[in-house]
Amino acid sequence: MTQAVLSLDQGTTSSRAILFGQDGRSLGTSFQPFPQIFPQPGWVEHDPEVIWQSQLGSAQTVLSSGAVRADEVVAIGVTNQRETTIIWDRATGEPIYNAIVWQDRRTADFCDELKRAGHEEMVTGKTGLIIDPYFSATKIRWILDHVDGARVRAERGDLAFGTVDSFLIYRLTGGKSHVIDYSNASRTMLFNIHSLTWDEDILALLDIPAAILPTPMESSARLGETDPLWFGRAIPITGDAGDQQAASFGQTLFTVGMAKQTYGTGGFLLMNIGEEPKISSHGMLTTVAWGLNGKATYAFEGAVFMAGASVQWLRDQLQIVDSAPESETIATSIDSSGEVYVVPAFTGLGAPYWNPYARASIFGLTRGTGRAEIIRATLESVAYQTRDVLDAMQQDTGILLPELRVDGGMVANNFLMQFQADIIGKPVLRPEVPETTALGAAYLAGLEVGFWDDLEQITANWHLDRRFDPTMSEADRAASYRGWQRAVKAALVWADDHDVAAQ
Ligand code: ADP
Repeated sequence: MTQAVLSLDQGTTSSRAILFGQDGRSLGTSFQPFPQIFPQPGWVEHDPEVIWQSQLGSAQTVLSSGAVRADEVVAIGVTNQRETTIIWDRATGEPIYNAIVWQDRRTADFCDELKRAGHEEMVTGKTGLIIDPYFSATKIRWILDHVDGARVRAERGDLAFGTVDSFLIYRLTGGKSHVIDYSNASRTMLFNIHSLTWDEDILALLDIPAAILPTPMESSARLGETDPLWFGRAIPITGDAGDQQAASFGQTLFTVGMAKQTYGTGGFLLMNIGEEPKISSHGMLTTVAWGLNGKATYAFEGAVFMAGASVQWLRDQLQIVDSAPESETIATSIDSSGEVYVVPAFTGLGAPYWNPYARASIFGLTRGTGRAEIIRATLESVAYQTRDVLDAMQQDTGILLPELRVDGGMVANNFLMQFQADIIGKPVLRPEVPETTALGAAYLAGLEVGFWDDLEQITANWHLDRRFDPTMSEADRAASYRGWQRAVKAALVWADDHDVAAQ
């Protein structure tokens, strides 16, 4: 009899269900995309019923595909788009408002107010985060303030808040479990990452009643059982982690100093910093990577806003490539970008600069510059931004990274992977299984039920697809990176003068 773990990977644009066997390889997959809702500029919502139906539907489809039946599934793991906020009625399970998605900026003014009032140091010290609309806390408050009667119902204990994992587990268990794992809790801006409990001071500051909060749990734990209605039998749900943390687990970043970069629409670099939370002095977030066997493991996280999205810009706005993969063919048709630098700050610059006023710019154009140089420089910018974040992490931790593990859609680009290795001067390792996020959630679930015995067994499942070793000379690496830093500096001058320009 085949045995498998079912991983539910609830992303920003689609819901996926993937079955994994003991060797960590996929035994079947199903996915359903769903629509984005943009009610106003800067607002992004999802319909929670559509999230639920697409996730349930993809799970039921993969289980009816024949490879693995529901009675062969030993456990379910959940991973999810992080920070996205849902509030529902405890009695009926019905949401009182759409899910407010992580990208939504509607609470920006309120966040500015909190910062002006001097609360950031306290919030960062407790949560490891900066004050930003990105995180769940101010989204919760917005719903309580804007949905009729919500605050009174919340105070009475009639409402439940959850990130998407919480909501799915609530639905899957027929309303029996209202839980969240530490990694997801650490993205709410309400969770004290030192004590691993909800923080009363921040709850008071934001006027959020504790009665709506889920119970924080380890990421590998008995979180509940599915209602037999969904899959014909009760299946234990024993894994839960936010997408980037799950990807880190799937990449087996089990020792301090190991790091991965996920090159999707944006880029998310996480480094294992051990069992004590540290606060960065270089703009990195501190987050719980996972809770396992009575201990929390922490990570530094640095976000690159534009990774694959800058290639989408080449394709859809500039229309100088027909497809994302073509960027590689064109980039390698020339020997160098001819000292052209693209700073892809379309939506500002993320870590370690955190400048919302920066805008994308191209430096170093000459009469000989053509589309190949611009395309190549755009790919190179993704590698430079990754180095910026890595350097900051290394300075914060004093840890010298041995290698970088990579995943996400852009890792198909061999030019970028080689340039990444060259520009950080470290090997870049691309694994065989590309679905590291879903795999990480499966591992967390499988560990709890003994499908996998321990981290050593999981580590042995990690197989290399291709290793990229640095070949660039030290002098060229230094000169190239200096050029990038010069370009960023110029972009920041433009950004810093925005007040002058407005006068
Ligand atoms: P997400 O999970 O954020 O939707 P994916 O991990 O699926 O993203 O990666 C998709 C991104 O990768 C897209 O932005 C696309 O432009 C980029 N991409 C995919 N293949 C390539 C390639 N061969 N070269 C460069 N970029 C690529």
